[in-house]
Amino acid sequence: MRGPDSGTICQPGRGASCALCCGSHNYRAGRDEMDALFRARRRAFPATVPSPLPMVIDDGIQCPYVGFIDEADSIIGCLLYFDESSASGDHRAFMARTCRVFSCMARETLSPDEVRFAAALMGDWLHYGLLINDIALLRDLMRRFALPAHVTSEEREAVRERLSRAAFSPKMC
Ligand code: SF4
Ligand code: SF4
Repeated sequence: MRGPDSGTICQPGRGASCALCCGSHNYRAGRDEMDALFRARRRAFPATVPSPLPMVIDDGIQCPYVGFIDEADSIIGCLLYFDESSASGDHRAFMARTCRVFSCMARETLSPDEVRFAAALMGDWLHYGLLINDIALLRDLMRRFALPAHVTSEEREAVRERLSRAAFSPKMC
């Protein structure tokens, strides 16, 4: 079983995590509804909990294995990869079909310092995943602020709102 703070760009620590490429943000819903779904999936695993929530992008993914992978229900990730010992033959067949081909511009592009800055600044699953995938915005912030701690709370909130507005419609948080 992997730890929820793996030190990778997907779970870099500081409370940040991302499962964007698996559809963690493809819900036309509020934060509370998404949190409730990801909580329910952790508790139900290895059974799946299908999404009752509509998609933002109709032909996008909403993988039923995206859920919280920690006891505190704060770190998002793949329940199957997190606990591979629970993966059955059906699970492995699903993964072979679904997870084989994907790319992540953030993973290919960002430096460890950029990942650490985004994790420290956002510190959650919702906005961290969006910020690392808005590379121009992240680099602009790093040009203007030497350290995440230098970013004012007003600026941080403005960044969160901007990211949410761009990702979700209607505005969700
Ligand atoms: S979008 Fe990139 S950083 Fe996010 S979970 Fe996928 S591979 Fe990881
Ligand atoms: S099973 Fe594949 S697509 Fe689904 S959450 Fe895990 S890695 Fe992502």
